[in-house]
Amino acid sequence: MRILAVGAHPDDLELLCAGTLIKYSKEGHTVVMAHMCNGNKGHFTIPPEELASIRAEEAKKSAEIIGAEIIQGEYPDLELGIDENSKRTAVDVIRRARPDVIITHSPDDYMVDHINTSRLIVEASFIATLPHYKSDYPAHNVIPPVFFMDTLAGVNFIPTEYVDITDEIEIKEKMLLCHQSQYIWLRDHDHIDYVDFMKSLSKFRGIQCGVKYAEGFKQYQVWGRIVPRRLLP
Ligand SMILES: [Zn+2]
Repeated sequence: MRILAVGAHPDDLELLCAGTLIKYSKEGHTVVMAHMCNGNKGHFTIPPEELASIRAEEAKKSAEIIGAEIIQGEYPDLELGIDENSKRTAVDVIRRARPDVIITHSPDDYMVDHINTSRLIVEASFIATLPHYKSDYPAHNVIPPVFFMDTLAGVNFIPTEYVDITDEIEIKEKMLLCHQSQYIWLRDHDHIDYVDFMKSLSKFRGIQCGVKYAEGFKQYQVWGRIVPRRLLP
């Protein structure tokens, strides 16, 4: 299968679903990691343009660990609206990746870039199959099932499916640590240990399903998106 995971910012996938992506990749599936925004406002002292290029490098390094393809986001943070341009961008992400399964943010997540990414990707994954909708890439031939990944800190999110990531937690940590600009910034400025934050949520989801570490998901349940077999690893 081809798996497309789309976060709003360059480090969201590492925080919320990288264990599952590692597992997919170990099983021989093709993984594409994408983000919609360039992460240019995730720091108070590094100027936005410089930060965007640092974060693109960090995302690339992380994706390389599991041999995932990367699609870098161009939207400045907090400028991703729901409009014709952003829809077309989302359609192109899907047409480039040609996924059988999509993972993206929950519509109930904590900030607008995450919420808009969720809505754009769900809408675009339908639009991407319409040949008369013109964009830079040819139409995709699958309306893929969508899984919403956990919210930040699991707030307002009750998973319906779990993936055991006990054997993947170390690589997940390694991927997250590629995002050094965020790790150091959050540690020094907000006194948040990024790795501990990620591991605590993975542990909490693990407790819920009886393993050491897990990731939780909710499937987008509408007609045309449901298949009678498990798609998560
Ligand atoms: Zn984010």
